[in-house]
Amino acid sequence: MSGWLCIAGLGPGDPNLVTPEVTLTLEAATDVVGYIPYVARIAPRAGLRLHPSDNRVELDRARAAIDMAAQGRRVVVVSSGDPGVFAMASAVFEALENRPEWQALDIRVLPGITAMLAAAASAGAPLGHDFCAINLSDNLKPAALIEARVRAAAGADFAMAFYNPRSASRPHTFGRVLDILRDTCGPDRLISFARAVSTPEEKLRTVTLAEATPEMADMRTVVIVGNSATRRVGRFVYTPRSAL
Ligand code: SAH
Repeated sequence: MSGWLCIAGLGPGDPNLVTPEVTLTLEAATDVVGYIPYVARIAPRAGLRLHPSDNRVELDRARAAIDMAAQGRRVVVVSSGDPGVFAMASAVFEALENRPEWQALDIRVLPGITAMLAAAASAGAPLGHDFCAINLSDNLKPAALIEARVRAAAGADFAMAFYNPRSASRPHTFGRVLDILRDTCGPDRLISFARAVSTPEEKLRTVTLAEATPEMADMRTVVIVGNSATRRVGRFVYTPRSAL
């Protein structure tokens, strides 16, 4: 049988939020490749090889996965959430760019439920109007670009979802982002901290920017900032569909 490569999203954590397409593809796979905690979500079975690796080796991991598919194996590269959102799908295409002999391979990207959509559903509908997603990690872009994008998005009154908000290696970025947001959006704007959404440790907290502190976020948190019309209704937060 000829090999193939699928880049699949496992959703935010709950097994019920893995799509049937991804489940069927994993059942047909011979190899699963990915970051250690994501590969740990795959049930071992006879005939399936698991290849967990560290997070910082994305391009190597992509090349190894393509190589296995080229040798006839049926390979799934797993990401959490959606594989196209700050995840492995782009790394695979980057690896393909310089290798024309790989470009005819059977490659498919299988979507998943990304963290901000699961978090928004838990909160109500904070992303009900125009919104954007920004990765606050400065691993792959300069901090100045992150700040410029946050300022631009806040200035254009987008609701915003922040991925990778805060890590031990860059404890100050998120504090600066909160300062920019308070400057641009004022103290009353709603901000939701959604941690470990769809897992047993899920925690959701909505406060105003005046009340928000950097410690409310960590690397398992996705942060959603409303637009100027976002408001509470009962225990929910929603953004009206109309800006008229
Ligand atoms: N591809 C993933 C995102 C990878 S970046 C996706 O589509 O969701 C990793 C970041 O995603 C984390 O730092 C956090 O901000 C967010 N994240 C992933 N899973 C999450 C979850 N269950 N709850 C809250 N945030 C999550």
